[in-house]
Amino acid sequence: MRTWSEAPISRHQVEMISPCLDERIGRHAGVRFLDALLAQVDWSDWEQAYPASGPGRPPHHPRLMCAAILYGLVRGMHSTRMLEYATEYNMDFQWLLDGRVIDHSTFAKFRTVHGERIKDLFKTINRKAADLKKLSLEEIIIDGTRIRADSDRHGSRTAQALQKRLDALDEKLAKALEELEKAQEEGEEETARKNERVKAALEAQKQRDEKAMEVAKARDEVKKAKEGKKAHGVRVPVTDPDAHLLENKEGGYAPNYTPVIAVEGELGLIVAEQITEQNSESDCLVPLVEKTEELCGHAPDRVLADEGFGAGYELEELGEKGVAVFTPMGKVSRDESRPVPSAGGVLPPEHWEALPLRGGRLDKSAFRYDAGEDVYVCPMGQILRPLRKQTRKNGTGKTVELMEYSGAPCGDCPLASRCLSKTAKARTISRDQHEVRREEVRERMATEEGQEIYSHRAPWVEGAFGTIKAGMKIRRFQRRGLQKVRQDWTWICLAFNLRKMMGWKDENTQKMMKYCIQSCIQRLRWALSRFLSMQNQWLTKVSA
Ligand code: SF4
Repeated sequence: MRTWSEAPISRHQVEMISPCLDERIGRHAGVRFLDALLAQVDWSDWEQAYPASGPGRPPHHPRLMCAAILYGLVRGMHSTRMLEYATEYNMDFQWLLDGRVIDHSTFAKFRTVHGERIKDLFKTINRKAADLKKLSLEEIIIDGTRIRADSDRHGSRTAQALQKRLDALDEKLAKALEELEKAQEEGEEETARKNERVKAALEAQKQRDEKAMEVAKARDEVKKAKEGKKAHGVRVPVTDPDAHLLENKEGGYAPNYTPVIAVEGELGLIVAEQITEQNSESDCLVPLVEKTEELCGHAPDRVLADEGFGAGYELEELGEKGVAVFTPMGKVSRDESRPVPSAGGVLPPEHWEALPLRGGRLDKSAFRYDAGEDVYVCPMGQILRPLRKQTRKNGTGKTVELMEYSGAPCGDCPLASRCLSKTAKARTISRDQHEVRREEVRERMATEEGQEIYSHRAPWVEGAFGTIKAGMKIRRFQRRGLQKVRQDWTWICLAFNLRKMMGWKDENTQKMMKYCIQSCIQRLRWALSRFLSMQNQWLTKVSA
């Protein structure tokens, strides 16, 4: 005969002495840590957003609102309706808010009103975490991911399609206006009101389409500059034109944003974050290093990032700051035994097979650059001299000074099929002003120490994205527009850090928990004073 657990209390039993909320929350519950941490923050700037007095019910203190939103994100509740439900039915939320039930629209309005203030709170909490754990912030790891925008994939249009839609909308608007004027002239109030609504809806749609059109044209220009006149028109999500139609990490295409984070390499906290303006991650290193510098007062010693990060000008800027970048500079095979090409010398045939290739052709690293002479020497001893200099803008608008090197026609060189394109008679190599920095990174990555340092990258940063997407259930942004999405991403990153901090169990955390106990005592004092004042009021009433 199996036995099952007894219910400690029937749902229909009347509780004579109801335990207080505080007794129902464990002494070491994470929510206490969060409450104590936020109680240490200076909220005066947030308080400024509220009038000193006014009609209506008094607002909830911003500390409580932030606590509820952040705790909701930690527990995987990111919609305002889920938060409203939690404040009414979840014990830990009731404890956090002292029993207040907060409406979903209040949460939505709060995030809009306080907009950019979350960025300061993110920095404040990170500074507290860094102090608490004495973080050195010597190493940061940078990576990006994609998160769905709040927009439907099928609602994306090219500039051409949008123009057709705008023409059709103009016709509909003219007709609606005509019908409205007719109804007003004939005094048909009901029809006039209906036509007013139709006109307003059409105008709103036109406004949306015009904004999307503007974005589509700008993106078309950029694409044309890269791919020439043959470039196809870019499709823009009409409901959120700031998003980009990109391949999802899980497959398929959808409107996405590209959030990027910098995780410190000791505890895995997110120390800096951003959403890229374009969909490219290549220009994120410097801004994220600067944000980390702002946090701890010095630049990190090392930055680890995967392929795709580390544009030349970024390597240059970080090199000047003394920050060592660890990122793969192209997938090229290494052969330590291969002799370095020398002018007039020929690489022995046994090394030909191991020569590094990229895109089916000999990689630049198969050639030797002679900085003194400013020439390249090919594996067959041919010298490639500077041919012409070009100045152009890259995708992010930075100026690139490109020098092309070329040599005499290669004739019947046995390596020609692997070195030259089908039509070329001589090999050409390009080198920009940042090549020295790239070579530095390549050399750093080629060492055992470099490989060991680079192995720290994936566990921290991929783990952070895993927790955000699977643990906190962030798969899609809830609001539209780059500015709002940026704010939401800061909320998410802060909640991620708090989730980590709530799991800390050591002597530093004990200090924080001591503070928790002090704050409990304060609450009890407050409850007692309230009880006494109510009692006094009642006694005055009775005696009167
Ligand atoms: S094809 Fe020309 S550049 Fe290439 S290895 Fe032969 S000689 Fe050198």
